[in-house]
Formats: sequence, structure tokens, C-alpha cells
Amino acid sequence: MKEKIEKCDDEQCPIHGKLAARGRVFAGNVIRKFPKRIAIEFERTLFIKKYERYMKKKTRLHARVSKCMENVEVGDYVQVRECRPLSKIIHFVLVEVLRKKSQNKEEEK
Ligand SMILES: [Zn+2]
Repeated sequence: MKEKIEKCDDEQCPIHGKLAARGRVFAGNVIRKFPKRIAIEFERTLFIKKYERYMKKKTRLHARVSKCMENVEVGDYVQVRECRPLSKIIHFVLVEVLRKKSQNKEEEK
């Protein structure tokens, strides 16, 4: 079933295309997958001055998925990098899958 992509002709690919990925880098879990887009979520800690304590907050952002990285799945831990705004909500691009959710079940076919 899996097609091997030898050459990625995606113009908005950070590796093979013209899209310049620069700026901030975040890592998070994929919570939703769309065609050419993923939504990721990660936690950050926020200092509350009044209580002198930290509070956890979740950030969600959308990232573009280029052709050569379409095998990303919900639950994967990925790294995204800031790029130019590609649409109203997308200004990040997926650069690397750090950990697959199904790492132990790779033999399954
Ligand atoms: Zn590519």
C-alpha cells in the first residue's frame, strides 16, 4: 500500500521545497490530522505572580504537513518550526517526527 516518494515536489516543503522554516521551534503531540495539516498540542508553564506558583497551560497550533511526511499519525510526538503564514491559521511547518505512537508495533502490516 505504501508508496515510496523518491522525489518530493511539494513547493511548501521545508526540506525539498522553497519554504523557509525559521523562527521558533515547538514539540508536541499530534491531536488531529487533516489533509496537509496537523494540529499539535503541548503544555507550557505560566508563572502566576499573585500566588507565586506555576500554572500549566496548553497551546494548540496548526502545522503544515509536506508530501514527504504524510505518514504522520495522531498521537505522534513531532517537532514544528515557524515559517511564513501559509493560511489564516497555519504559520508552522512539520519538520520532524520525534517519536511514533506505534513504535513497538512496526512489524505489523
Ligand atoms: Zn519534502
